[in-house]
Amino acid sequence: MRTFLSRLAAVFVLLSPLAATAQDASLDNVAKAMGAAGVKSIQYSGSGVNFQIGQNYSPDVPWPRFLVKSYTRAANYDTPALRDELVRLQGEDPPRGGGGQPVSGEQRQIFVMSGDFAWNVVGDVVNPSPIALIDRQLQLWTTPHGVVKAAMANKATVQGRVISFAVPGKFRVKATVDGQNLVEKIEAVAPNAVLGDVAVEVRYSDYKDFAGVKFPTKIRQTIGSYPALDLTVSDVQPNVAVDIPVPDPIRQTPAPYIRVTTQMAADGVWYITGGTHHSVLIEMKDHVLLVESPLNDDRAVAVLGEVKSLVPNKPIKHVIATHHHFDHAGGLRAIAAEGIPVITHDVNKPFLEKALAAPASVLPDRLAKSGKKGAVEGMRDKRVLTDGARTVEILNIPGNNHQGGIAMVYLPKEKLLVEADVYNPPAANAPPSPTVNSNWVNLADNIKRLNLTVDQILPLHGRIMPLAELHKAIGHSH
Ligand SMILES: [Zn+2]
Repeated sequence: MRTFLSRLAAVFVLLSPLAATAQDASLDNVAKAMGAAGVKSIQYSGSGVNFQIGQNYSPDVPWPRFLVKSYTRAANYDTPALRDELVRLQGEDPPRGGGGQPVSGEQRQIFVMSGDFAWNVVGDVVNPSPIALIDRQLQLWTTPHGVVKAAMANKATVQGRVISFAVPGKFRVKATVDGQNLVEKIEAVAPNAVLGDVAVEVRYSDYKDFAGVKFPTKIRQTIGSYPALDLTVSDVQPNVAVDIPVPDPIRQTPAPYIRVTTQMAADGVWYITGGTHHSVLIEMKDHVLLVESPLNDDRAVAVLGEVKSLVPNKPIKHVIATHHHFDHAGGLRAIAAEGIPVITHDVNKPFLEKALAAPASVLPDRLAKSGKKGAVEGMRDKRVLTDGARTVEILNIPGNNHQGGIAMVYLPKEKLLVEADVYNPPAANAPPSPTVNSNWVNLADNIKRLNLTVDQILPLHGRIMPLAELHKAIGHSH
């Protein structure tokens, strides 16, 4: 009797279409369950927390957390385009890590992608952000309906409940569907300037019906194994008008990272600017030193070209990396591809060693193509580089909230100090900040503690400024 019943059950499983879908997904059934064909655009909003990727206090702790009071994402799958608008508040206490902490009050952020352009909106100003393009395209094509459309467009394969596809040079995606053929998990691999291949995971749960379209009300994302977003969705509007034209200034600035401007700060010392993140070149007797290789391969190549034209016949012996934050470390893989060793604080050394040996299989970069692995040398409180004539001191900045292993570079003879992120000067004609950041005070305290004689600061954001301006910013207390 038992045998007969189990045989009957087996026959039932084989014959029933319902049971078949519970075993194997088909792309058509998933598209039908999700209502993908009928969704040309979508807008969803909610609230929760998000985290600033690559801005953790040290490489071994999670990305810093922010409270997201409101989050609205508008997606157009036809054009294609994506617009995220967030209102965020300070989440970490104390405000440890980067990402513009501490956020005072409510801060509005707008991140946009349209076609092959990515940009951010700050007030009335649009800032090109091509470095974020692939990530935003991945965000669009891993939304619950976007992933189904991308799977169909990119000849996905289906194995069991897992749908796999790749967009060459951009990302690889695996989407898992649940028993109702609703997308429940995304596992993607995308390119990252610091990490090489980076893992992006999204979990969709608690689906509800919104105007006939199924949409998850819980969205949780991790990037590089740390949490990136935890969102509770409260409103979903399928097929609202989402029209995102590319602004002229963005269309006219397709390659902002290759712009280089150089200013001589002292004999044999150059401040290499032109974009958002600067570097400093220091000429020694038979070699040169470079402080910081930020952003990405494109920026690194432009800076390396400038170094070569400023000092044609001396090799770069070391690149000093002030800290591991991704915007400042994104050009280090290109440095490793040139076989140049990196000096950084011991806090960052294991992380950078791993990053400079990591594969970049989705979008092979200069390091991946070189077949090399980067060399990283550590330091703790102080490391001195000298050729007998010029002395370069690399000094830790302890006690700041920005990063736990951050270094500044001091040239005692020239009375110059290079620092990143602990003090970013406002535009020369801007009114003074009404608030004092504890990291500014910490920088002034460290300059005093170490008895450094500084005339000018060369900040790696902003402009050359006299030390007196830092003292003024913190209220003459030093
Ligand atoms: Zn930083």
